[in-house]
Amino acid sequence: MPEPSGSILDAAVDTDPVTLAVRRAAFRAILGGDTVEEARIADLTGLDGATVRSAVDRLVAAGIATTNAGEGEQRSVDGSEGLTIRSSAHSISISGNDLHTWCAFDVVGIPAALGLDTTGSTRCPTCGATIELTVLRGEVVDTGAVGWWPSASGGPVIEAFCPSASIFCNLSHLETWRASTNAVGTPRTLAELAEAGRSTWASFKD
Ligand SMILES: [Zn+2]
Repeated sequence: MPEPSGSILDAAVDTDPVTLAVRRAAFRAILGGDTVEEARIADLTGLDGATVRSAVDRLVAAGIATTNAGEGEQRSVDGSEGLTIRSSAHSISISGNDLHTWCAFDVVGIPAALGLDTTGSTRCPTCGATIELTVLRGEVVDTGAVGWWPSASGGPVIEAFCPSASIFCNLSHLETWRASTNAVGTPRTLAELAEAGRSTWASFKD
């Protein structure tokens, strides 16, 4: 799949204004710490409910949004563009909101793109150690940790890219993991992950 903007998220769905408006409204809501009902997205975007529902369906199919709905409740978006209300192995604190992400890359890439101050953590797939990830005004604090950039070949982003977009204690732990898998991709420094983040979430800056 082509990546004209250098963003695996943008490349996953149509780039029309309606889709982008729904993506931005959902992402901003999750960033603010809460799930967002489709009716609320309709209010925020000025789109009608059926248009929002159809757009959310496409985002879920592309693996760049997740939804939930309790019994008799309206469907809500609870994950958007890597950021999620659901618990995961990757955490990030943004403006006092304790959130989670779909992969380790998100913990660095999202605040890098938005120029935020954040603290977060992930777990090294090789040794299980907690790796603290701090971003200050969009610049990641280098700890020597090393990320893996998967060469995803189509499929929903949350399934094709996220599971192996990990961060390891160091290059040695990455190489140990790499030797035990048939993963295709490239090691990247934290600074390189931050730079990739600025392209990936460029559509979500204010
Ligand atoms: Zn490790």
